[in-house]
Amino acid sequence: MSLAMPQPTSRSEQAARVIRIRGARTHNLKNIDLDIPRDQLVVITGKSGSGKSSLAFDTLFAEGQRQYIESLSTYARQFLNQLERPDVDLIEGLQPTICIDQRPGVQGSRSTVATSTEIYDFLRLLYARLGEICCHGCGQPIRQQSAEQIEQSLSSLAEGTRLMLLAPLVRGRKGAHAEAIQKIRAAGLVRVRVDGQVLDLESIPALDPRKNHTIEAIVDRIILREGVRSRLAESVQLALRHGEGVLGVCYLDPTVQKDAQDRGESTEGLWTERIYSTLYACPNCDVSLEEIEPRTFSFNSPYGACPTCEGLGTRPQFDRELVLPDLSLSLTAGVVKPWKGMKNAALAKLRSALMKYLESIGADAATPWNSLTEKRFATLLQGDEKGFIGLLNLLEQEYATATDAARKEELERYRGNLVCPACDGSRLRPEALAVRIAGKNIHELTSLAIADARTFIEKLKFFGDDEEVAEPILADLVARLGFLSQVGLDYLTLARSTDTLSGGEFQRVRLASGIGSGLTGVCYILDEPSIGLHPRDNDRLIAALRKLQQQRTSVIVVEHDETMMREADWLIDIGPGAGSHGGTVVAQGTPADVAACEESITGKYLAGTKKIEIPKERRKTNKQRMLTVEGATANNLKNVTAHIPLATLVAITGVSGSGKSTLITETLAHALIRKLGGIAPRPLDHQSLNGFETIDRVIGIDQSPIGRSPRSNPATYIGAFDEIRKVYAQTKEARQLGFKASRFSFNVTGGRCEHCQGQGLKRIEMNFLPDLFVECDHCGGKRFSPQTLAVKFRDKSIADVLAMSIEEATDFFSSFSAIHRYLECLSSVGLGYLSLGQSSTTLSGGESQRIKLATELARVDSGNTLYLLDEPTTGLHTDDIRLLLGVLQKLVDRGNTVVVIEHNLDVMKSADWIIDMGPEGGAGGGQIVATGTPEEVAENKLSNTAKFLKSVLSR
Ligand code: ADP
Ligand code: ADP
Ligand code: ZN
Ligand code: ZN
Repeated sequence: MSLAMPQPTSRSEQAARVIRIRGARTHNLKNIDLDIPRDQLVVITGKSGSGKSSLAFDTLFAEGQRQYIESLSTYARQFLNQLERPDVDLIEGLQPTICIDQRPGVQGSRSTVATSTEIYDFLRLLYARLGEICCHGCGQPIRQQSAEQIEQSLSSLAEGTRLMLLAPLVRGRKGAHAEAIQKIRAAGLVRVRVDGQVLDLESIPALDPRKNHTIEAIVDRIILREGVRSRLAESVQLALRHGEGVLGVCYLDPTVQKDAQDRGESTEGLWTERIYSTLYACPNCDVSLEEIEPRTFSFNSPYGACPTCEGLGTRPQFDRELVLPDLSLSLTAGVVKPWKGMKNAALAKLRSALMKYLESIGADAATPWNSLTEKRFATLLQGDEKGFIGLLNLLEQEYATATDAARKEELERYRGNLVCPACDGSRLRPEALAVRIAGKNIHELTSLAIADARTFIEKLKFFGDDEEVAEPILADLVARLGFLSQVGLDYLTLARSTDTLSGGEFQRVRLASGIGSGLTGVCYILDEPSIGLHPRDNDRLIAALRKLQQQRTSVIVVEHDETMMREADWLIDIGPGAGSHGGTVVAQGTPADVAACEESITGKYLAGTKKIEIPKERRKTNKQRMLTVEGATANNLKNVTAHIPLATLVAITGVSGSGKSTLITETLAHALIRKLGGIAPRPLDHQSLNGFETIDRVIGIDQSPIGRSPRSNPATYIGAFDEIRKVYAQTKEARQLGFKASRFSFNVTGGRCEHCQGQGLKRIEMNFLPDLFVECDHCGGKRFSPQTLAVKFRDKSIADVLAMSIEEATDFFSSFSAIHRYLECLSSVGLGYLSLGQSSTTLSGGESQRIKLATELARVDSGNTLYLLDEPTTGLHTDDIRLLLGVLQKLVDRGNTVVVIEHNLDVMKSADWIIDMGPEGGAGGGQIVATGTPEEVAENKLSNTAKFLKSVLSR
C-alpha cells in the first residue's frame, strides 16, 4: 500500500510546509499522526461516521480556535468561553482557522447576501459619492440652494415667528467632542444645543464618549419683524460657514405660540425643525436634505433604516388574509374572523366604528365585502384622512390595549410578519431611496439577481473626477459579484435575507466573501461545499476554492464529491469503516496515490474497480397512477404542471435555484399533506392536486436529529428498546422481584438512577463557562439503579445491552424475531457500528437520516406511502450511497413512492423516472425541461443534466 508523505526536505523546511498532528484521539480517532501539507487544496474523505469531522472540525478547527483565543489578551479572554483542548498530543504549523460551515440563521434577519459579502458596503459608498439625488417628494433631481434662497425662504415665515439658527457641528457621533465645543468658543458664540437641549457654553456637562451626541452651535435667536432682514442674512451666512454648508432652523409659529399660551401650556415640542443646505434641496417641494453619506443607505443604522420597521423590511401586523378569510360574507355574517364569539356589547361598539364609513358609501352591515370597489375596500381596511380609522388600525388598537392575556393571544393568531407598508420591504428611508444611479436606487439594484447586478455595474460609465472615484469601487464590486457567480449563486438576489438560504447556499455565500476578503496565511475548513450544487457548477466551485488556496491559504475540505477528490492536491481517506471500525488514516497522497491503494474503499471507487451498478431494469410507469400538481406559480415557477408516477423511484434534478424545492416541498408535499388531513405549512400557489387517492401517508425524511434530548437513541427511536425491556421483564429474576418492563426504562421513575434521572450524566453549571456534563457518580453512567442492573439476561445487564454495538446486539438477540428485525434494519442501512444507546445529540445528520429510513423499513406498511427526501446523499460516501439506494429501492419494491431531490449522479442513474427542472436558476428557471427515464433525459438537448447523466450511464 502506498502511504505517500509530503516530499521530505530539511526538517525545518518541512515543518514550515505542513500542519503536524500527533496523537489525535477525538471521538473515534485512533491516536493518529498526520502531516497535512499547508497552502494546498486538501480533501478529507471517508465513509459516514469514519471520523472526518472529528479530525477536521473537532480537532483542527477546535485547536485553531483555542490557539487564537490563547493569543488574545487576558482581558479579552475573560469574555470568551474557554475552549477545551481537543484530545490530541500536538498540533504544529496551524494557521489561524476559519470554518465555513452550513449553519444559516445565526446572523439574524438583518443580514442579506449583499451585507454578508461586503458588497453592500461598496454599494453604499458608490451611492453616497456618485448617486444622483432626487427629491423623495416629487422625484426631481435636487439642486443646491444658495444662502440667499435660504434667507428668502426664512423671511417668508409669518411675522412674529421666533427663529433659532443653528450650525450643526456634530451629528450623532460618539465622542466627548471637546474640539467642537472649543470651536464654538473660538467663534465667540455663547450658546449651544447638545442632544436637543439648549445650554450655556460654560455649563455643558462632560459628554459620555461612548454615546452618540449631536452638537449644534446656536448662531442667533431672532423674532421675525420689519427690519431684521439684514441681521437674518448675516446670521444665515455665519451659520452656513460654521455648519459647512448646512443650517439648522428651529422656529415657533406665532399663532401656535398664542394658542398654547391661551391654554396655559408650555410651547415645548411645538417648535418646527428644519434643515437647509447649500448642498442639496428640492426647488419644488421645499425639501432639504442632510448630507448623503454611506450610512444614509444602511438599514442597520438609524440614519438609513425605515423608521416604521427599523430596517427589517417586515413588521408584525394583522394579516388581511387571516382576518378576512371569506370576503363573500358581510359584517353581520361575521366577515371579520377575530370578532367571532365576542360579547354583543363589545362587538356592537367595534362594528359601529366601521358602520359610519359603510353608510357613507351607501353600504350597510349586510353588504358582502367582495362587492365593494377595490378603492373602497382599501379605505375600509386602512382608513382615510378624514378621521375614519379603518379595520386594520382598529384591530391594532384593540391589540395594543388588550389587557386580557387570552384575548391578546387569540388576536396574535391573526398577525404575521408582513412586508412593511412604509418602505414596501426596502428597509430604507425615503431619502435613501431617492438617490439613483443610472435610474436605479440602491434597493432596486439589490433586488436584481447577482448576474443582472453584475451586468448593470459593468455598464456604468462615469466621467472626469467621478470616474476616478468610481473606478476602484466598481472594480471591487465586479470582482465580488464574480466570486458569487463562480460558486453558482448567480440566481440569488443581493437583497435576499440570509436566513432564507439553504445550508449549501449560505456556505457558498460565505466562501465567496472569504475569497473577496483576500486574507492570506489562514486555514479555511469547509464542510461539503458541493451540497446543493448541480454537477454543471462543480467546476466553478473548484475554481473558487483554487482561487482561495492561491491566496497563500490552506483549504481543507471534507467532501465526497468525486470531481472534487480528483482535483485535490492532497487526499486523505479516513476509515476503513465507521465508528469504532474507523478513525484511522487508510490512505493519503495525491488522488492517484489513493486510487492505487488496495485497502482504501475510496481508492477502489476512484479507480473504478468498485462502483454503484445501474439497475438492470427500470420500473414501468403507469399513466393511470400519477400524482399531478397543476399550475404551480410560486417563486420562479412558470405555471408548472408535474406528474409523479406512483410506486416508482423518482429523482427531481436541476441546477441550484431552478425551483425543485419550491415545486416539490413547498407546493406539492404541503398540499398533499393537507389533503390527507395532516398539518403542514400553507402550500404555495397552485391550481390543483390530483391522483392522491391511493396515498395513505407522506413522510419527509431529512437529516434533523431523531430527538432533541440526549435521551433518544437508535434503540428507542426504532422501537427495539420496548421489546428488549420485555425480554428483561421475562427473566426469572425480574419475575421473582416483580419488575415489569417499565422498570427497565430510563425515562420514568422506578428502575432508573434517580441521581441523574436516568441520563447517566450530570450537568454542572459553571459560572462564565459552558455547562459541563460529567458521568453520574452514583450509577457511573449506567443510568439504572443497582437493583435493576442486578437483573441479567445471558450475563448482561440492561446497561450492558445499551452499550453494545448494533452488530453485537443483532447476534445477542438472534432468537427474538421482533428485536432481531429492528436491528437487522439498522444494520442494513450501514449503522451496525453505532451503539444501541448512543445519544441522539452525538449522531451526524446522515446517521439520523438512516435511522429514520431503517424505522420505515421495519414498519409493516400498506405500501401506499410517499417518501420525500431532499438531498439524502449529504454527508455520504459513495459506499454509503450504495446502501442508501438499496433501502430506497426496497421501499419502492413494497409499492411505496420515493421522491428524491438530488444532484448526485449515482442516485439519478438509479431512478426509474427523472423530472429535470431549469434550464437555469432563478428567473431563468422554473420550468420542467425534461421528464423520462434516465436514458431518455440523457438525450434531451435542453437539459443541463443530460450531459452528466449520459457520461455516468455509459460507464
Ligand atoms: P464523519 O465526519 O466521518 O461522518 P464523525 O467524525 O462525525 O464522522 O464521527 C466519527 C464517530 O464519532 C461516529 O461514530 C460518531 O457517531 C462519533 N461521534 C461524533 N460526535 C461525537 C460526540 N460528540 N460524542 C461521541 N461520539 C461522537
Ligand atoms: P432549488 O430547490 O431548485 O435549488 P428553489 O425552489 O429553492 O430552487 O428556488 C427557486 C427560486 O426561488 C430561486 O430563484 C430562489 O432564489 C427563489 N426562492 C426560493 N425560496 C425563496 C424565498 N424564501 N424567498 C425568495 N425567493 C426564494
Ligand atoms: Zn419599513
Ligand atoms: Zn446516575
